[in-house]
Amino acid sequence: MSDIQALWAYMQEDMKADAIGNELRSSPIRQKLEKTRDFIMQQKTEYDQMEEQVAVHADRKDAITDALKRAQEQLAALAERFEQNPPENQEETAKMIAEADKCRRTLMSYEQELRHIQKLSNEMTRKATSIRADTAKARKEFDLMKEEYNAESESKKKLWAQARKNADAKAQGIPEALMAAYNSVKKHITPPMARLQAGQCAGCNTSQPSAALRKIDAGEELVECETCGRILIKGE
Ligand SMILES: [Zn+2]
Repeated sequence: MSDIQALWAYMQEDMKADAIGNELRSSPIRQKLEKTRDFIMQQKTEYDQMEEQVAVHADRKDAITDALKRAQEQLAALAERFEQNPPENQEETAKMIAEADKCRRTLMSYEQELRHIQKLSNEMTRKATSIRADTAKARKEFDLMKEEYNAESESKKKLWAQARKNADAKAQGIPEALMAAYNSVKKHITPPMARLQAGQCAGCNTSQPSAALRKIDAGEELVECETCGRILIKGE
């Protein structure tokens, strides 16, 4: 058997092993597993961001509560001043009223902001609860699917390992350079070899130039299709 024929025989086993490997990767359970894992991770990111927001809100709430207290004290002081030193003329009265109004407006805006923060906090608490529930449910599903996938993939992994072994056995004795060429072509196109039939590459059905045909006839080992790049082997 020539090296190129040995490489062709190797390719048959290599393709079988790859097919099993692809099946393993594209298993519907595996894809669902990956989707569920992504979902769990995304929920975690959302939850972490929310926790940061909750901390920011708590700080802001503390600050407003303090400011609110100060505004209340200011208003109380103003009332006390009004009782003890009632304004003596219209101008002073107007000034005091304006001051009290300003104080009340400040109070109102703080109270409004507090209510707003409280509303946001409530929404977040609700959302956090639902995220925790969703995540717990997804984790449970993930674990179940993982078991199912492990059982399914275990037998397939064995098949795959056996197919790889078969391919490795066929690789024995093939010159390294030829194997390297095969692997390099395989990165671009698969299967990486094609028969030459009626002067055409059976991989892409392109007629090959006579120079390439002559090389193959002369038994040259490494002739690649000029169009698809596959390694050509004489047709049977
Ligand atoms: Zn081709």
